Amino acid sequence: MNPKIEKLIKLFAKLPRVGSRGGQRIVLSLLQDKTGRAEALATSLIDAAQNIAPCACCGVLTGRGDLCEFCRDENRANGQLCIVRDLSDVWTLEKSSVFHGRYHIIGGLLSGAGGVLPDDLNIKNLPARIENEKISEIIFALPNTVEGKTTQHYIMSAIGNVNTVAFSELASGVPLGGDLDYIDDGTLTLAFGGRKSL
Ligand SMILES: [Zn+2]
Repeated sequence: MNPKIEKLIKLFAKLPRVGSRGGQRIVLSLLQDKTGRAEALATSLIDAAQNIAPCACCGVLTGRGDLCEFCRDENRANGQLCIVRDLSDVWTLEKSSVFHGRYHIIGGLLSGAGGVLPDDLNIKNLPARIENEKISEIIFALPNTVEGKTTQHYIMSAIGNVNTVAFSELASGVPLGGDLDYIDDGTLTLAFGGRKSL
């Protein structure tokens, strides 16, 4: 096999849910395409990789150096802050239109086995956000797993004695070990509406 093709297949194969067979199919399809898709993809990837970065306030990916659409939108400054693990959770919640406040992406879950420590999480500016954005409720929408709960408890104790903030978590009904990714809109609406105070 031509080394350039082999290198491409290896790169695609490492992407989530692709694997080596999928990588082969993608590379073949791109290289045999006559409409310029390979060039368009390459240009678009370089553009995104160079110009997209996490929002300095909440971690949502946005234009480099910009505040994201949620942090800029004053209508979302309703005092509610939803803590999620990653951007795909934000997309899921947005799709269901169940939440109208702002988000905070922590970027992972505490895990002794996985070597994820508090310093690895995007939580340092949470106290500042609570004050600056007059946050009155923090809603945890983390996976219902040991790591999710450990992380939730850690964040609550790290924020500590800010007694102007109420904490809540999504109601049960979120499958154990399940991610927000796999919850349908109806379940999510129920889980949000019936959220439990902590
Ligand atoms: Zn933001």
